[in-house]
This record gives sequence, structure tokens and C-alpha cells, in this order.
Amino acid sequence: MALTVWIDQDLCTGDGLCVDHCPEVFLLLEDGIAYVRDGDVVRNDPGMSDGLASVPDGRERDVVHAAEDCPGECIFIESP
Ligand code: SF4
Repeated sequence: MALTVWIDQDLCTGDGLCVDHCPEVFLLLEDGIAYVRDGDVVRNDPGMSDGLASVPDGRERDVVHAAEDCPGECIFIESP
């Protein structure tokens, strides 16, 4: 199941829970807001297609849990 994930940075509280769940996909930048990444490539273009990252195989559950726990309710998971 190939999932993609993005964050609505306007709603992010910067608490970092998503990073705790899955640092392979989520990271906090210097602005104190969370972003997604594809490996070493940070998707830091909010609201654009470039803001979408692929969820690595085996990390789907962690990303779903991050979305469930996200206090900003701003992690969005999409499946084809
Ligand atoms: S869990 Fe949600 S609100 Fe918290 S840092 Fe991650 S995206 Fe932002």
C-alpha cells in the first residue's frame, strides 16, 4: 500500500509528536514547524504538490498513529 503524506503547516503546533512517531518521515525545521521528507529531501513547500512525501514501506502504521495523535489534526494521508 503506497501512501503519501503532507502537513498543513498553518495548523501545526510544533509539539513534535509526529517526529517522535516517525522521524523517517517527519521533522521540525528552524521555524518550529513540522514538515515531511522523502529521504534527505525535505518537502517544505506548504500547500503545493512538492509538499507531499511518500511513506516508506513498513512505516505506514507509524504515520497513521502520528496523524491520529497530531493535536493540530494537520497530518493528511492519501492513498492511490
Ligand atoms: S504532531 Fe501535528 S501539530 Fe505536532 S508537530 Fe507534528 S504536524 Fe505539527
